[in-house]
Order: sequence, then structure tokens, then C-alpha cells
Amino acid sequence: MYAQVVVDISNDAVDRVYDYLALPDTKVGMRVKVPFSGRIVMGYVINLSEHSNFDETKIKPIITNLESVPKLKVEALEMCQFLAKHFFLRLTDCIKLVLPACVRQDNVSEKQSAICSLNMDFDTAISIVGKRAKSQLSIIAYLSEYGEDNLTHLNNLFSSSSVKALIDKGIINLSKIRTYRSPSVEKINDDRKQLTASQQFAVDSIKNVDRTFLLQGVTGSGKTEVYMNIIEDALAHNKSAIMLVPEISLTPQMMQRFNSRFPNNVAVLHSGLSEGERYDEWERIFNGEARVVLGARSAIFAPVENIGVIIIDEEHDSSYISESNPRFNTHDVAEFRARYNHCPLVLGSATPNIDSYKKALDGKFQLVRLPERINNLEMPHIEIVDMLIEVLDGNTSAFSRKLLSKLEECIKNKKQAILFINRRGFASFVMCRECGYRAKCDDCEVSLVYHKEDGELKCHFCGKRYRMLTNCPNCHSDKIKYGALGTERVCNELSEMFPEVPIFRMDNDTTRGKNGHKTILSKFANTTPSILVGTQMIAKGHDYPNVSFVGILDADVSLYNSDYKSNERTFELVTQVAGRAGRKNNDGYVVLQTYAPKHYVYRFARNYDYEGFYDKEINLRHTTMFPPFTTILRILVSSVSDNRAKDVTKKLYDACQELKVKFGKNIVFLSAMPAPIKRIQTKFRYQILTRFVPSDEIISDFYKISDIIEKDVSIFVEINPNNLR
Ligand code: ADP
Ligand code: ZN
Ligand code: ZN
Repeated sequence: MYAQVVVDISNDAVDRVYDYLALPDTKVGMRVKVPFSGRIVMGYVINLSEHSNFDETKIKPIITNLESVPKLKVEALEMCQFLAKHFFLRLTDCIKLVLPACVRQDNVSEKQSAICSLNMDFDTAISIVGKRAKSQLSIIAYLSEYGEDNLTHLNNLFSSSSVKALIDKGIINLSKIRTYRSPSVEKINDDRKQLTASQQFAVDSIKNVDRTFLLQGVTGSGKTEVYMNIIEDALAHNKSAIMLVPEISLTPQMMQRFNSRFPNNVAVLHSGLSEGERYDEWERIFNGEARVVLGARSAIFAPVENIGVIIIDEEHDSSYISESNPRFNTHDVAEFRARYNHCPLVLGSATPNIDSYKKALDGKFQLVRLPERINNLEMPHIEIVDMLIEVLDGNTSAFSRKLLSKLEECIKNKKQAILFINRRGFASFVMCRECGYRAKCDDCEVSLVYHKEDGELKCHFCGKRYRMLTNCPNCHSDKIKYGALGTERVCNELSEMFPEVPIFRMDNDTTRGKNGHKTILSKFANTTPSILVGTQMIAKGHDYPNVSFVGILDADVSLYNSDYKSNERTFELVTQVAGRAGRKNNDGYVVLQTYAPKHYVYRFARNYDYEGFYDKEINLRHTTMFPPFTTILRILVSSVSDNRAKDVTKKLYDACQELKVKFGKNIVFLSAMPAPIKRIQTKFRYQILTRFVPSDEIISDFYKISDIIEKDVSIFVEINPNNLR
């Protein structure tokens, strides 16, 4: 028997697939060790066959099989083939997506615990130890009642020397069993709810149907309840489920709700796990011990079998597109697995992706709506405040009068407020008032952000830190000007205005460490009145009944990101943040501060008019020929040598122009230019941008052109990237 083996060699541009002689129990999907050009390397068996196309006398045997049960199941292997073809990836990279590092490299050990049980009946045991060995007698009585217990626990309860004595006498039997390191989740009781009519309708339409659904439900309409009911139905049919949420909305609350509804059946996969926990959660899924997978993007690759439903919550979220290598798009992988398992794929959102909504209108997805909040609560009122008028009236602070008075009212009523500002740190830049000098990173073409509590300037692109300026390094003036304010400064100013009120800050700086989010959120949940200030990470998923006021300090930040998705993203953000208010009572109120109060994004967002926004936006995309009417492809060329990067870009651009000739009008835009951020981490960056009528053939040709190896230069191809920086 011959085994086709993908050899795992990193930094190789192409897949190496070779034939080896299989060992007697080699199976498809196994990790194996094979000889490869004088070395021994790891490989994955992707196929077994009776024949080989190579010279059979020269084929070497596999050295060892690394496991007895293949880690790659049939579906995983097919998924790898799909990923390779669909996203133009190497098979070895696809295998890396499907098998996490801790599983591939075997560097995490299984955790075992020793289980104690009685080796004989109660009376025999008593007669051996005698009536006077009180401590040993209690252990025997205990074990006879409970059957078994683990050694550590037993040692904590009783004297360990007595336990040992019983083991030595052969009265206690020790056996080793595997235990799992599971991330801890506090217990709550999430009672089953009587579904509303629209929730019930949604569940009935979706469950057990081999189709893709777009579940559009306003914030607080009870989507999570719908998901849980569909999952329950899948479990009842002996199937499993995958539920994906954006990393930042994988809140403790969400995990508690799932654990309470599906006790001992949930595995959680996210970036905050230790390697040991990740390994064990993966194994619990692999062994079929956890049939509900709850996780961020890469949980779509989880080794569950017999899937009964796949759910992508907040499906519009940009985190579902992986921007680092290997690049993939979660929706497409989910679609593949749903069709493979003949189960429903549910895309849920209050503000669907423009692309997904179009597919629903075109009949490719089935649209199911939850138009009302639970208990018919109203959507919170959104008041738009024109910051220009504030400035003209002499208020140059970051807080409008309306925002402050509503915030005061909220505090007075002993409620909670959430203030959103999508910028962390104290000030977005620092500059000299005299000569205009602006502090920049040595390695990146960007301004440094001032972090006052650390007394430092930080580069948010490479992480480099610098000491804060006291004087301008250029003209020595001490007149330093601060740029736009961030979360840190907002908190400082609030604590001066409201010295009595607890203020919590949630951003990348305050949530480091394993339980960072959890600690802040549980403090906030238990403190009224209080104010939570934060970036994007407070926008989604949170369900706190006492939040009555939401302030959006600077909505325009995302609006003027110069890419085609900025309108869509701003609409989402406003809707999502606003959706945190008034979730239990009709007291939600939102103040949105902007310099562009008439912008249509705000007009539609204020009325919660997704359809209105969609119509306007899709027309714009059509006239300007942007996705979903075209595909955007960017080839990013970077190098520490500016000239090398420029030369390679030029060479690639010449080749692209030949494609322009070949495909004619189907390529609607093609241009080469420096990237918006000209240098990151010492590398100069250039890009070729193109837009074309969606076509796999065109994509494939652009990939072929870019598939060249150039010394000291890296070339990246991105399709419809989230951000072009
Ligand atoms: P969404 O995900 O759409 O924002 P959630 O699923 O978080 O909404 O639901 C909002 C709140 O309403 C939650 O506190 C949830 O427990 C509650 N809820 C959901 N469905 C029902 C129901 N049928 N009856 C009562 N409360 C419900
Ligand atoms: Zn100066
Ligand atoms: Zn930098």
C-alpha cells in the first residue's frame, strides 16, 4: 500500500506531496514521520492507494505512524481540499487551520487524575483495618457511599497518610483516568423561555433545513434564544452544533448562558485559552464528549462530526475575515460544512452585511426576521448632536451639553451608562504648536499615541514605545498640543466631573491577561450607578438590564475611513452600541455626537431603518462599481528596501496590465501606488489595487501573477480586504 503524504516544511512556497510505503496500520488522516532529503520530518497522510506513479523501487517507507486514531477525519481532509482550492492556499497551511498547533506538535500532555475506589466490599474492608483505625474507617465509609473519588480530593478531605495506608493494603484501588482542563465558567441558571411568536416561527423555519438563513433581528430581539432552541433540536436528533461569535462578544455572559443550557456539553474555543485548555477542549470535541462548540472565527474548523446546525452570530463582523496568513473567509467555510452535513447555516445580525442581505433578497439565502424587541420594548431614542454648534456656543470639550445632562440624569436615577469612543490611549497624537513637529514612529509611517498613565508614546502598529516629550525635539518649545482624545482621557475627565461615580474602562490596554474582560464586566454588572467607557469591544453582545444611557462620543471616526465599507461599518457600530441601552425597561436613550449630523448613515441609523440604509448603499455600490458588484483584489508588496519594493511592484503591474487586455471591460479598475501607510515595521509598502466583475478565473490569474519569489520582498494577495492601510 502506498501513502500520499503532505510533507510539513515551513517557509516552502509550494506543497510537497510524496508517495511513501505505508506501514500495516497507516490510515488516511494520520500524522506520520517520514524521511525527506536526508532529514526526518512530519507529514500527513492524505490518501492511500495500491499503486504509485513513481518508480516503486525507490519509494521509501514511512518511519512511524504518530497516532493510532487519525487526527484528521474525513470531513477535515475534504475541508482542507476545499480551503486549498477556494482560497488558493497550500495544503500544509490548510492542515494548520484544521489542526491547532497544540494538537499537531504533541507538545501538550494529557492531564490524568488518579481515581480511588474500594477494592472489596465494605465488611471485608472493615475487618482488615480493624475498628480502631477511625480515620481509615471514615475513608472506607465515604468511598462505599460515593463509589469513587479522585485522589487529590480524597487527600484534602482526609489524612493523606491514611489514604496511603489503604492503598498499600490493597483496600483502595487506584486507576488513572483522563481529565480535561476546562476553562472555568461561573454557573448561572438560564431558564428556558416561552418563545415569542416570531422566535418560534424562526426556530420552526430554520431547524433541520439544509439551507442558509439570514436571521435579521433588531438588538434585544432574542436571537440568542432562537440559536439555543435550534441547537437543542439538533442535540435531540443526536447531532452537534457550532456557534461562532466575534472574539470580543464572546462574553462571560454568553458562555454562562450556553453552559447553563447545555451542561457539560459545551466546548469553548477562543484566543484567551492556555495551550493545555485549548488542547483539552479540542480533544473533548474530537472524542465526541462536547457536542456544542462555542467559539471565535477559527472554531469553524472544530473536529465535530454530524453537525446539525452552524450559527454565525453578528455575521457582519469584520473579524470573520482572517487577514493574516492563511487568509480565509469564515462564511465560505461555514457554507461548505453546512452543505457537507446537510444542515442549516444561520447568519444572524441586526445589521447584516450588505453582501449577505443582497443574497437574501436575491433568494440565495432565506430571510427570517425578528422585528421587535422582547416584551415589545421600544428601541432606544437616538438623539443626534451637532458638535459644530457646541463649538460655536463656546463648548470645546468632548462632551456636548445634551450628553452631559442625560448622563447626569442616568446617574441620578441610579442607572448605568456606556460611553463609546473608538480610540484608546490619552491622545491620538502629540505635536508642537510652534513648529508643527509631530511625533512619529521610527519604524512606521504613523503618529504615536500618547498613553498618559504610562508616561509613554506608543506605536499602535508595531508596539514600539517612546518616552513622552517635554519639549519639541525640533525647536525646543514646550508648547505641546494633544490630538483627539481617547478612552484614557475620557475616563480622566469623567472622574473629575463625577468624583463619586465608579468608572470602568474597557479597551486593549485594560483587558490584557486571561480574565481581563471578565473582571471589568463583572464589576460593572454589579455596580450601580456606574459608567463604562470603551472601544469597539463594548459594542456587541452585552445584555445589561440597568444600562439606560449610551453616549457615542465621536461617531465620525469610522465614517471617514477612506474605504468602501466605512458607511456600512458606521451604521453597524451606531446600531450595535445604541442597542446596549434600554434592554429591560423603556428607558433607553442614546446621544450621538457628530460634525456631520445630516449624513445619511446617521439619518437611517437614528430610525433603525436598515432597509432604507441598504437601498441607498447598494445603489451607491452599483453606480461606483464596488462589492458586491465587483471583487476588490489588492497585491501588497513590502520590503525594507524602498527600491526593491518599487521595482517588484512595477514588474507585477506590467503583468497585471496584460490581464487588463485579456479581460477587457471586466476589469473596471487597476492601479499601482504607495499603500496608505507607506511604512510599517521598517518595511516600505506599495500596492496594486484592482476591481473586477466577480470571476474565479480572474482571481486565479492574479494569484498566478503574484506567485513569484523575489528576494527580500514579500507579496501578499488579499480579496475584499477589511481595511486597506
Ligand atoms: P439579541 O441577541 O437579539 O440582542 P438576546 O438573545 O440577548 O437578544 O435577548 C435579549 C434579552 O431578552 C435577554 O436578556 C434574554 O434572556 C431575553 N429573552 C429572549 N427571549 C425571551 C423570551 N422569549 N421571553 C423572555 N425573555 C427573553
Ligand atoms: Zn517645535
Ligand atoms: Zn511603529
